[in-house]
Amino acid sequence: FIVFDQISKRFGKNVVLDDLSFSVGSGERVTLIGPSGSGKTTILRMLMTLTKPDSGTIRVGEDYLYHEERNGELVKAGEQHVRKVRGRITMVFQQYNLFPNMRVLRNVTEAPVHVLGRSQDEAEERAKELLDMVGLGDKLRAYPSQLSGGQQQRVAIARALAMDPDILLLDEVTSALDPELAAEVLDVLRDIAKSSDITMLCVTHAMKFARDVSHRVLMFDQGKIIEAAPPAEIFDDPKQERTRTFLESVL
Ligand code: ATP
Repeated sequence: FIVFDQISKRFGKNVVLDDLSFSVGSGERVTLIGPSGSGKTTILRMLMTLTKPDSGTIRVGEDYLYHEERNGELVKAGEQHVRKVRGRITMVFQQYNLFPNMRVLRNVTEAPVHVLGRSQDEAEERAKELLDMVGLGDKLRAYPSQLSGGQQQRVAIARALAMDPDILLLDEVTSALDPELAAEVLDVLRDIAKSSDITMLCVTHAMKFARDVSHRVLMFDQGKIIEAAPPAEIFDDPKQERTRTFLESVL
């Protein structure tokens, strides 16, 4: 469903992704783990077309985002393909980036109304459902600054889901939060994962969460995937010494 084929990326001399290939199935939940700087966030940013690879091909379903020509030249796929893919993916960031001047409900309805062309009523109805689901049904009229970090992040999750994405990208969504608030957010995400068939790609240091929700964990080191396995295997019986030392450092 999502295919990365021979993707490389460097920033100056820093090789961030090194001839990387992997794919993610439709409905699959995959967690990317590994040391800081190993290229995990870069992968998610490429799917959002925020970072362009130097070479290789990225495809989502039938649609190409980046495509390597036979002469080795990398081309961004046609605008039509890119727009189609972009409409199917949303990302939640570490910093929730809510619109500070809008109330919670409006934060969630804004994009469905202005990007998807939904009616105000329809968007509000769906937003209320989603805000209920993330436990914020009583905060519709609050402003972001009146909420805790964990509540703001849950609004950001509702806002992402309001776009009805096929693919949800989560980039260290709890690392700015205290453990207790992080736990609230992870509980919500766990429910979403278990009750939908959304494809999830998740960068996280929350290993228990990774174990609970992922079908597969990819361990990154120095721009490569050095181990890929179901969570039980990665966490209980890693094959690579590097995976073992990394997990010892974070668990
Ligand atoms: P972290 O857990 O710290 O977010 P990561 O595995 O997600 O790590 P990336 O954020 O993908 O790593 O970054 C990989 C490397 O690329 C890092 O060394 C980072 O400094 C570098 N990098 C990322 N974006 C840029 C940029 N725009 N310009 C220069 N270097 C960058």
